[in-house]
Amino acid sequence: SDVGSQKERVVTEEEWLQKWEMGDIGFHKEQRHRLLQKYLDVLLNGRSGLRIFFPLCGKAVEMKWLADMGHSIVGVELSEEALKDFFSEHSLPYCEEPIPEISGGKLFQSTSGNISLYCCSIYDLSSSIVGKFDGIWDRGALVAVNPCDRQHYASLMINLMEKNSSYLLVTVSYDPNKHKGPPFYVPESEIKSLFG
Ligand code: SAH
Repeated sequence: SDVGSQKERVVTEEEWLQKWEMGDIGFHKEQRHRLLQKYLDVLLNGRSGLRIFFPLCGKAVEMKWLADMGHSIVGVELSEEALKDFFSEHSLPYCEEPIPEISGGKLFQSTSGNISLYCCSIYDLSSSIVGKFDGIWDRGALVAVNPCDRQHYASLMINLMEKNSSYLLVTVSYDPNKHKGPPFYVPESEIKSLFG
């Protein structure tokens, strides 16, 4: 079937950490994503000073861009190296502290306070730890999640959304029988069943 060849695929946490260690991070882009620029108005919907969530954030440059616009940014990422690179590449001073609710988890926060990046698995987070968000930028996140974890991931995202929250999702369209991913192929029908 369509996506059958990817259904059982798993990329482990160790494999992601290894990618960061080896510099095998072709998914990282130095330029802001053109679709975020194009749909920024949809994300903001006339509002200012939003809390915006970046699931599986890597060192996405859009975090700095939105923070500079006056929004507060929260991200989550497995790789500590990614988060430290983010702050150092943007010359942002930060501090580091443990997350009491998550054993082994660390919070990296810009000294100015408007960028908080959680170093842990997304599956360790809940709204009682990070609160709820007015907007979510999902690029390289749902498509990086193992197909068997999509349902869990989607219910978590829904849980992290405020009432009038907007969610921008970028997926990648290709033939899943020819490439193993990630990024995985997530058909539109599945997005509809995951998010309603
Ligand atoms: N959204 C980013 C990065 C995409 S790549 C961007 O646009 O550049 C996916 C990232 O998710 C990787 O950096 C990987 O280390 C991280 N990741 C994978 N599984 C994760 C998990 N369970 N929890 C948190 N981060 C995870």
